[in-house]
Amino acid sequence: AKYAGKNNFSFYDNQLMEELVKRHELENDLKQAILRNELFLLYQPKVCLTTGKFYSAEALIRWRHPKYGLINPAEFINIAEESNSIIEMGLWVMSTACAQLMLWREHYDFRCIAVNVSSVQLQQTSFCQDVLAILTEHQCPAESLEIEQTESWIMDNPALNIAVLNKLKHIGVRLSLDDFGTAYSSLSQIGRLPLDILKIDKSFIDHCVEKQNDHMIVRTIIQLGHNLGMKIVAEGVETEAQRQLLQQEGCDEYQGYLFAKPLSVEEFELKLIQQKQL
Ligand code: C2E
Ligand code: CA
Ligand code: CA
Ligand code: CA
Repeated sequence: AKYAGKNNFSFYDNQLMEELVKRHELENDLKQAILRNELFLLYQPKVCLTTGKFYSAEALIRWRHPKYGLINPAEFINIAEESNSIIEMGLWVMSTACAQLMLWREHYDFRCIAVNVSSVQLQQTSFCQDVLAILTEHQCPAESLEIEQTESWIMDNPALNIAVLNKLKHIGVRLSLDDFGTAYSSLSQIGRLPLDILKIDKSFIDHCVEKQNDHMIVRTIIQLGHNLGMKIVAEGVETEAQRQLLQQEGCDEYQGYLFAKPLSVEEFELKLIQQKQL
């Protein structure tokens, strides 16, 4: 890098310093965030491509920080993972999502909630017991909880991690592979995993209408998943043309701004009421 002068250098220096301070601050504050009620969940519908209705949703975490305001997970999941806060946070997410699911199941035709789990959580030896305890606490049927995970953690240590997946499968929860196609997926492993759902990453959906190659990748993922007995969900659907293409290709469900952004509990309930009146 070429610095214009001493003052300029210290400008970048200060900026870096500020970022480090903020990171340290967030790391500390995270430990209190649950107790202080600063974390909350938004819910994004997963829409059925044949009926146009939604019966499930993905829970997405947010942090209302007293000093920095609303913080997205991209900014704090890494910090939470490195400081192990993710373990308690992840249990809070699962428990809160299950409680919400059971409320909505009572009043609406609503069936399933999906949560994102970090590889740090999945590597805890107590993870399966913790999941079971949460299901029991909320009297939540196991098949109504979907666990979204990324492929990289599975491939890091396939033997060990496939054993964890099999234990979860035994409990009866649904397993889904998030952001499919973005990591170093190994086709030989995919077929051995006890997965119920493949989620096609947004990066393939973005240009699937204009770019023939992306269209063919989407088509191939849908066929691969179906041939392996999995359900296929497309994420990040923003246009009607994308939705139509996915419907034509036989994709099962989609999520995206086209139907709804991640919604607060109140906004989500409005959608449920709207759908009930259809
Ligand atoms: P993800 O699991 O791939 O979630 C999809 C992300 O795409 C979400 O961002 C969602 O708000 C956004 N999104 C959905 N539809 C559209 C669309 O049509 N257009 C665009 N541009 N974006 C769309 P979000 O909520 O910021 O979450 C980012 C990531 O943070 C998630 O990616 C997930 O990996 C992670 N995350 C979120 N909540 C949790 C959690 O409770 N635990 C863990 N471990 N990770 C979480
Ligand atoms: Ca996800
Ligand atoms: Ca995803
Ligand atoms: Ca994604």
